[in-house]
Amino acid sequence: MEDAQKQSLLALMAEKLNQSVQMYLDNCTRCGTCIDACHAYASTGDIRYSAVGRAQNIRRLFENYHKITGKIAPWLNEAVELDERWMDRVYETAFTCTGCRRCMTYCPFGIDTQQIQSIAKALLIGADMDPKPLTMKAKAEIAKGENFEATKQKFQKELDKIRGEVSQRWPGSAKGDVVPIDVKGANVLFVSMAEKPSIVPAAGIMNAAGEKWSLSYYEAVNFGAFLGSPTMTQQIYQRIVSEAEELGVKEMVICECGTAYRIMKHVIGKRDFKVITILQLIDRYLKEGRIKLDKSVIEGRITYHDPCQIARNGGIYEEPRNCLKALTDDFVDMSPNRQANWCCGGGGGLVIAQEPEFRMMTSRVKVDQIKATGADIVTTACEMCFAQLKDLNDDFELDLEVKLVSDLVADALVVD
Ligand code: SF4
Ligand code: SF4
Repeated sequence: MEDAQKQSLLALMAEKLNQSVQMYLDNCTRCGTCIDACHAYASTGDIRYSAVGRAQNIRRLFENYHKITGKIAPWLNEAVELDERWMDRVYETAFTCTGCRRCMTYCPFGIDTQQIQSIAKALLIGADMDPKPLTMKAKAEIAKGENFEATKQKFQKELDKIRGEVSQRWPGSAKGDVVPIDVKGANVLFVSMAEKPSIVPAAGIMNAAGEKWSLSYYEAVNFGAFLGSPTMTQQIYQRIVSEAEELGVKEMVICECGTAYRIMKHVIGKRDFKVITILQLIDRYLKEGRIKLDKSVIEGRITYHDPCQIARNGGIYEEPRNCLKALTDDFVDMSPNRQANWCCGGGGGLVIAQEPEFRMMTSRVKVDQIKATGADIVTTACEMCFAQLKDLNDDFELDLEVKLVSDLVADALVVD
């Protein structure tokens, strides 16, 4: 590695070493409690993919460049040089961490391995070793925001087809536009995946509830967050925030996208609108009697996969279960579930980055968990988990139906 590049990467590392990351790097006692917590290690037995294994790469670099012990006795804590070998090693472990934070809940010191990985990701991006499919997606997303008029026109054309489907499925369910957009003073700004499968069920549900809502022009998913790029993350979320502020909405409702919810809930700071997930909205409609579901529509046992960013990192546990119990008497939880649920292995952008072999190899624990429920339908509330569960279903020949919660609710919706 050339000296100029090395110096610029070390400067990047120094920038990322905030107080909490330094604490995480300093406080690990290598007790090993987190080892079994990572689905990737639990499925493969490969120590490189354990939480402590992944973090150790960064810790050893930190030791060399930021600790006295690393300078006077580098062998003591295995200090390493920043070189090509280190970069190659860290590539395998940084972008394959899904950021599920299951390890953190098992660590006695609450060490956040995914935050430690953000240093590795920054260095990999700095060395042009980022996963290109993710970077391309993030750039395309940003370009859409920069060319707003073109985006708007293209989206309006798509919406005409979507409106047709909503009207056909639930005739007469809305007084005005069945997929409203640009509605000033709406109660809800619904941020979808900007595609039919995520818009149609939500439109059916909100129209049945008589909601005053408006569809966002932008897609919810934030590829900048998957990349670990704070600049791109901010560029992508800011235009949705501005849209909500310009319309003066009361609530921003995020479709089934875990990362989008985490960013909007925890990163954008305090705003004049509330951020909730579509699961919370549906649960509220059910409790207020604004929508009704027909329990005879969905057949077979249903189980639910808690998406890491919605559940463990977002605190949404009961709402999806309430929705599912309102449409079936045969709901069964996976074990473990809620905060302790296993990651599906597709998060952190791995589904987008296309790592099919790795994703299948590191998800054996998830597959075992699903099989043990005896379910016919596996549901979830995150598009990334949904894509991963579909791949697992095919690869492991589970012979299940994979559905999003909102889709099942829309199927069972009673519209008078
Ligand atoms: S559980 Fe915490 S302290 Fe123990 S090895 Fe893992 S990160 Fe380090
Ligand atoms: S955040 Fe999740 S994927 Fe990453 S090391 Fe921890 S348990 Fe493994």
